Amino acid sequence: MKFSELNIPSNILGAIEKMGYEEMTPVQEAAYPIIAAGHDLCALAETGSGKTAACAIPLIQKVDPELNAIQGLVIVPTRELCIQYVTEIQHIARRTNVVPFAVYGGFDKDIDIAKLKHGVHILVATPGRLLDYLYSGVLSFEHVKCAILDEADELLKVGFLEDIEFILSCIIREHQTLLFSATMPEDIKKLAHDCLRDPRHISLITERKAPESIDHYFTYQHPKDKLDVLVKYLKEEDVKQALIFCNARHVVDKMYGSIRKEFESVGYIHAGLSQDKRSSVFRQFKNMKIRYLLASDVAGRGLDFSHVSHVVNWSMPRGRELYTHRTGRTGRMGKKGKALTFVTKPELSDIRELIARNKISPCWIGKDPLQANNSLQERKKKKRPFRPNRGKGKQVATP
Ligand code: AMP
Repeated sequence: MKFSELNIPSNILGAIEKMGYEEMTPVQEAAYPIIAAGHDLCALAETGSGKTAACAIPLIQKVDPELNAIQGLVIVPTRELCIQYVTEIQHIARRTNVVPFAVYGGFDKDIDIAKLKHGVHILVATPGRLLDYLYSGVLSFEHVKCAILDEADELLKVGFLEDIEFILSCIIREHQTLLFSATMPEDIKKLAHDCLRDPRHISLITERKAPESIDHYFTYQHPKDKLDVLVKYLKEEDVKQALIFCNARHVVDKMYGSIRKEFESVGYIHAGLSQDKRSSVFRQFKNMKIRYLLASDVAGRGLDFSHVSHVVNWSMPRGRELYTHRTGRTGRMGKKGKALTFVTKPELSDIRELIARNKISPCWIGKDPLQANNSLQERKKKKRPFRPNRGKGKQVATP
């Protein structure tokens, strides 16, 4: 279905078309009529599904720009998601008089307060900064008509349940609440039960299988060879943008030093950077001013970088969900992407489980250690002498 088939005012429709959106994504098709009709919503949907615009379009329509007050509130778990969300609203609202604004930890409070006093219609915020402003009386929710909890499962993982309940309790007038989550564990169900009124439910997650738009490469290496292999790989590949994940920030720093000797346009991001620096790197990468980004998991969840052609796991992510989040930064909105994961000996059993449980069709660059391991175990069982595995499995040449 096309956006033009909906009853969207021409100034919003024009902005959407300028952004290149014509056909609605499934989550937009399912959520738009529910939100526009004023119902509460409990949606199972992931980042990359187009859920930001699904909310932003009807939300902008609901705002009365003549009323100088916050009318829409969006709560997100991280600072980067806050920037991403508000940027999307700004684009969609650019031909209207609706003013969106984001508040999040680490940003100058005087600027926030001046902007809030001047007039904001849609506020996107992380819970910590929101509580701060609620306690100090900087914010009033008197006119909020729609509250959105985005990435609710992430919000709750960071232990924000009580904070969220308190924030929502500060909205005194009757309002609409929309909850988006990628999973529905018990505490989200409780939140949904406590905060939503007669909600409509939609589920856009039908299977947990890895998306087919991503080719999953793995390479089994001795730690001392990893850097050479990575550099060679990146030089041989047609890299539009690469996101290279490391498990610790000191590793990000070290890798940044190594990679920038080999390539131009390299940046890094982790939670140890000041918020200004983090936001600036994030924007530069999003606008393709940085080609190779070394990152800790602050960049692993939810963020939408539509030009990333390659994701590299310099080390095995801790947990298969994190693997899905990290690799999901590529292969977005119908584009193809490649993920390369470095595997060392201690990680073999984790890798075996990851491949099986995430239903990945792995492509091994160089030796496939799982095949070799299987053959070894088979031979041990049959008490046959071991001969090296030749050409079995899907393999490609060492880069
Ligand atoms: P989200 O799930 O909101 O993070 O959106 C993921 C990406 O999809 C963003 O880059 C959006 O700009 C893009 N997007 C959202 N809706 C559409 C659409 N209808 N057509 C094309 N791209 C879209």
